Amino acid sequence: MYDITPKNGQFEMPALPYSADALNVISAKTFEFHHGKHLKAYVDNLNKLLPGSGLENLPISEVVKKATGGLFNNAGQVLNHAMYFEQFGTANHECKGAIADMIVRNFGSVEAFKKEFEQKGATLFGSGWVWLSKDADGKLVITQEPNAENPVRRGLQPLLTFDVWEHAYYLDYQNRRADYLTALWEIVDWNVVAERL
Ligand code: MN
Repeated sequence: MYDITPKNGQFEMPALPYSADALNVISAKTFEFHHGKHLKAYVDNLNKLLPGSGLENLPISEVVKKATGGLFNNAGQVLNHAMYFEQFGTANHECKGAIADMIVRNFGSVEAFKKEFEQKGATLFGSGWVWLSKDADGKLVITQEPNAENPVRRGLQPLLTFDVWEHAYYLDYQNRRADYLTALWEIVDWNVVAERL
C-alpha cells in the first residue's frame, strides 16, 4: 500500500523519479507546470492548512480519509499526483508477473483492462482521475474519481491512476484526452504498480 509520512507535521514535495525530458509522451514543459507548479501549490496549501487541523503527523492516506473542505482537496491532490508521477519511468513497460495475472483474472486480458481503463478516463465528465484499485476481497476495480477524490475514501487500495484534469494533457494533446490516455501506457513502470499491491 502506497503512503507518504510527514516530517514534523509537514509533507515534502514528491521528487520526480526520472528526468522531466526522459518520457516520450509527456513533454518537459508539461512536467514543468504539472509537477513544478500545480503539485507544488497543492503541497504548499496542504502544509499551510495542516497546523491546528488535528490531522498533523498522520500519513497522507489518513489525512485524505478524514479531512474535509480545502484540506481534503489539497491532501487528495497531493496523494493523487504523488502516485501518478511515481508510476511512470523509462523501463518495465510490459505488464507481467503477479499484477498481470490479477488483471487477466479480473478483466479477461491486459488489453481488455487497458481498453476499459481508457474508456472510463475518456468519459469522466470534467476534472478527475481514473483508478485501478484492489478491494477488500482482493478483486480489482476501475473507478472514476471526480476532482480530488481518491479510492482510499471508499476502502479501496489504489494501484494505478491516470490524471484527466486538463492541466495534465492540454499542452501536449490539447483537447485530445483519449490520445493522451492511450499514450500513457508507453511510460507506465509496472514494477512500481506491482509494489503497491
Ligand atoms: Mn494533475
